[in-house]
Amino acid sequence: MSCNPRTKAVEAVASLAAPRHGTPEKADIGFFGEDAFGAEAMRAYMPKAVCDALLRTIEDCAPLDQAIAGDVAAAMRNWAIDRGATHYTHWFLPLNGATAEKHDAFLDFEKGHPILSFSAKNLIVGEPDASSFPSGGLRSTFEARGYTAWDPTSPAFIKRHGNGATLCIPTAFCSFSGESLDKKTPLLRSRQALAAATKRLMKVFGLPDERVTVTLGAEQEYFLIDRHFFLQRPDLLLTGRTVFGAPPAKHQQLEDHYFGLIKMRVLEFMTEVEHELWRLGIPAKTRHNEVAPAQFELAPLFEDVNLACDHNMLVMEVLRQAAKRHGLACIFHEKPFAGVNGSGKHNNWSIAYGGRNLLNPGGDPAENAVFLTVLAAILMAVDNHADLLRATVAGAGNDHRLVASEAPPAIISVFLGDQLSEIIDGICGGTAGASHHASSMRIGVDTLPPLPRDATDRNRTSPFAFTGNKFEFRAPGSSQSCAGPCTVINLIVADAFDEIASRLETVAKDDFNTALQHLLREIFTAHRRIVFNGDGYGAEWLAEAERRGLPNRQNTLDALQAFKSPDNIALCSKYGVYSGRELASRFEVFSEEYASRIRIEAGVALEMASTMVAPAAQEELSAILLTLNAGAAAGLDNGATALRARAKSLGIALDALSAAEDGLRVALSGPPAAIPKAMSALRATVDSIEGLVSDARWPLPKYREMLFVL
Ligand code: ADP
Ligand code: MG
Repeated sequence: MSCNPRTKAVEAVASLAAPRHGTPEKADIGFFGEDAFGAEAMRAYMPKAVCDALLRTIEDCAPLDQAIAGDVAAAMRNWAIDRGATHYTHWFLPLNGATAEKHDAFLDFEKGHPILSFSAKNLIVGEPDASSFPSGGLRSTFEARGYTAWDPTSPAFIKRHGNGATLCIPTAFCSFSGESLDKKTPLLRSRQALAAATKRLMKVFGLPDERVTVTLGAEQEYFLIDRHFFLQRPDLLLTGRTVFGAPPAKHQQLEDHYFGLIKMRVLEFMTEVEHELWRLGIPAKTRHNEVAPAQFELAPLFEDVNLACDHNMLVMEVLRQAAKRHGLACIFHEKPFAGVNGSGKHNNWSIAYGGRNLLNPGGDPAENAVFLTVLAAILMAVDNHADLLRATVAGAGNDHRLVASEAPPAIISVFLGDQLSEIIDGICGGTAGASHHASSMRIGVDTLPPLPRDATDRNRTSPFAFTGNKFEFRAPGSSQSCAGPCTVINLIVADAFDEIASRLETVAKDDFNTALQHLLREIFTAHRRIVFNGDGYGAEWLAEAERRGLPNRQNTLDALQAFKSPDNIALCSKYGVYSGRELASRFEVFSEEYASRIRIEAGVALEMASTMVAPAAQEELSAILLTLNAGAAAGLDNGATALRARAKSLGIALDALSAAEDGLRVALSGPPAAIPKAMSALRATVDSIEGLVSDARWPLPKYREMLFVL
């Protein structure tokens, strides 16, 4: 028996009880949404008139009528109490990218008797103070109060834990002066802007006023490793990624993990997660093994963008906590393990108008005209504001992913597939695709042929891909909130819709088709450069993108500069999505977060190098020297040459280690931009030492163990 903690961890995994194979008698989904205060719960707990009024408020995304607030609060309390909740919290999304909650008991006293109370005021506004959240200069601590305001469009929900439950009320979080300190408020503003612009554009097409829904389906990738290993890695524990670790002989070369058989232990975990999500009304739909070993994905059915963003935060929380209960650790970092794929969060985005998906190519010429106009607007939006879109996915973790030819590159481009591209070329008057109908198509939106319903072309290398009836923004990182990217997509598309509408509103009815045809040709011609259907990983694309003048912001610090551009500031303030000060605060917060993360990683790497790696290498070296000495004393020189060579390699590596540590220390004393390079140099040395030290002596769980012992 070994006393090496790594070996013990492997033994612990090996001796895990065999999974239970019991299946419930009959599958049941009746509990779906049981822990969310949705329409059904409202009907059961509120007078009909109040319930109707509240549902209307939610439908219209309007502010709550104060007259019904008392009844709503009472209903919500009764519903929560019936589910065992003793506490409530305003649940919000601060700029640090996490979720935040401060619990208050329903406890109060009435004539000396304890009661469970919850007033309209408790429901609508909270004052969590919360002065320690990043604000990027939007408030100073002496006026630090933060306010939370209920967002009725995201249902309250119950979070259960051992011994109790808490009513969580999704809220926006802002400062005393009403400036947004969170990720939800700008998202709600952008949703409103896009809804208004969509209605305006649809009116131009003569369509009746309908409800606009912006939809999001967020695919969540994650890694699962055994918790024993996780706890033995200070880097994973403190930074979410391994700063060291030599690649194992086998990783993802055989491509045998993607869509592979899901291990029983993992499946049991996933099932528990899904049940919990369903109970919260989160429509978890798809589960599968991802490309890297120990990597998985969960995808829900799409929902309203605001709800989907909240739900994605809960998905991550439920995954993380269920993992703990199953002796696992769930890792959301974008690049936890070097040498294998990292994790992303594909944001599938679309707009529905009165229930019709505007990104569904239509069945008749009139619908096609709307579809092509929406498409043109999106191309224009992404081309005009690629830098802003890129900035929303900036982060220390995602930096590893966007330049590694395993995720879309940092250059923002749009994939349309061959068929749609041909149609656009046709509209532009190009001759591309001579063999296809697009070339012979008469240009005139009233004569467009039926468009392909399902463009099945899939190009996983594109950051912004049309996938048949939606766009899939693939650049967001797995740990990032969907709110930032979706806020900007909504905003830039709203702006493009408004521009198109303003061009067409003044056109006489009889000239509409001709005017639209000219406008589409103009937009497609001007913005075709953003379309790229080829291999985004290839070096040719880098050169080609540069030729086309597309921005290529390789890292977080470059990417965040977009928040400072006058164009972007003007756009954000025009729609009130971010004021100038709010945008500046995001720049501050995200740059600081980047610097902190990088510094923490460097600190952890230095600590591990000097307290774990160097001692292991020294022990190895002294063991070799002892053996050599003992051999010499015994007059034995067999093996001495090999031992001397090993000792020499270790000695050289130890010197290199110490030099790399010094290099990182120097980098750490300067601005963060130089740190990643020094980290890579240290990593290379440590990983080479891992190959020189005896397995039994190596203190850190190895990639082989973390990725395969599950
Ligand atoms: P893939 O991995 O092939 O991209 P998935 O099935 O994993 O596909 O995920 C696709 C996601 O796109 C799902 O979350 C799905 O609900 C979502 N989706 C489908 N239609 C729309 C739409 N109209 N708007 C937003 N999201 C959508
Ligand atoms: Mg998927």
